[in-house]
Amino acid sequence: MPGPKGTYDVLPGSEFGATALVREALLAPARLAGYADAEAPVFEATELFARGVGESTDVVTKEMFTFSDRGDRSLTLRPEGTVGVLRAALDAGLHKGQLPAKLRYAGPMFRAERPQSGRYRQFQQVGVEAIGLDDPALDAEVVALGFQAFAGLGLTRVRLLLTSLGDASCRPAYREQLAAFLDGLELDEDTRRRATLNPLRVLDDKRPEVQAQLAGAPLMVDALCAPCQEHFSAVRSGLDALGVAYELAPRLVRGLDYYMRTTFEFVHDGLGAQSAVGGGGRYDGLAELIGGPQVPGIGWALGVERTVLALRAEGVEPPAEPGLSVFVVPLGAPAKAYAVGLVGSLRRAGIASDLAYGDRGLKGAMKAADRSGAAYAVVVGDRDLDAGQAQLKDLREHTQVSVPLDDLVSHLEGLL
Ligand code: AMP
Repeated sequence: MPGPKGTYDVLPGSEFGATALVREALLAPARLAGYADAEAPVFEATELFARGVGESTDVVTKEMFTFSDRGDRSLTLRPEGTVGVLRAALDAGLHKGQLPAKLRYAGPMFRAERPQSGRYRQFQQVGVEAIGLDDPALDAEVVALGFQAFAGLGLTRVRLLLTSLGDASCRPAYREQLAAFLDGLELDEDTRRRATLNPLRVLDDKRPEVQAQLAGAPLMVDALCAPCQEHFSAVRSGLDALGVAYELAPRLVRGLDYYMRTTFEFVHDGLGAQSAVGGGGRYDGLAELIGGPQVPGIGWALGVERTVLALRAEGVEPPAEPGLSVFVVPLGAPAKAYAVGLVGSLRRAGIASDLAYGDRGLKGAMKAADRSGAAYAVVVGDRDLDAGQAQLKDLREHTQVSVPLDDLVSHLEGLL
């Protein structure tokens, strides 16, 4: 029986079987930069997302999994991670401590989107948030950590798109300028409605007939106030100092409403329509939107499945568990009892090992040893036990030696 629409199962050998190590690898650069683990609940009050993510976004209007609990409170499965992590940080008063508060997280997110390759209803993100300061050098650090997350996995075709969305002092005037421009275009009813809610969103319309009309649209980067201009140029200098290449993308608009100033996206050209592998930005107004104090912040979220798809597109092996080193094959009941103890000793010595359960014959057990991926098999029969010996087979070289039972663990430690 398959799982619900738009979901997938993580199992050995399945399409997204390697996600745990990919998540760890994506967050490794952040760990080196002092970001601590954070976890917020998978569900929150619906109002938190409605206010935080923004009422004009597709995420809030069309894609939330919302339900009532037994006390008739409206709850929603988190569609993204920033709002919950920020709520948790404010709740714990992290903004009153050492700043910036640096947090990293990983976990499932839920959006009722139309499923397709690279787009799921339950998907995984990793993310970082740097909360409490507005310092362009911190913006550069955060953006660079995203870039390094992909580079650390061996990806070479991730591009960084960067822009500034201005702030509360320059964006409103720009918004009006853009709205006036959009008024003069031939737009369908739906797009017009979107333009009224948030004209910036129309810039993101992928349809060629809309894009053609947008050729002369005013751009936010040309309308930045002096402090925003200065901020943006400091972010770019920071990225240059960190050796991170970026492309200016003045039409970049993200699917969440809370971004201001530094805004960015990571794209991979080998993924077809779902090319965004991650994105983020500065969200200085978000804490207030969700009912908190004025606390600035910046962060990103990276899509784990799309990262796996990007690895595949580039032919890069995802990080893998080291696997088994030793597979023990007992033949007979006394040998089985000995084998159970032996794998215990091997594991205590830090050697990944397993044994042939199910009392199979030599042939079946050796097949299991080969399939296990172990480098060595230890075969013990009852007669070996009497002689105080075991047969140690090198499964790659196809060689075999007798080793005294008392020396087995140390002998294997020496070999591995
Ligand atoms: P967002 O939170 O929308 O900024 O998304 C950040 C990243 O999460 C995107 O760049 C994608 O890589 C990933 N992502 C977003 N939505 C989905 C989805 N429905 N399925 C898979 N990945 C997604």
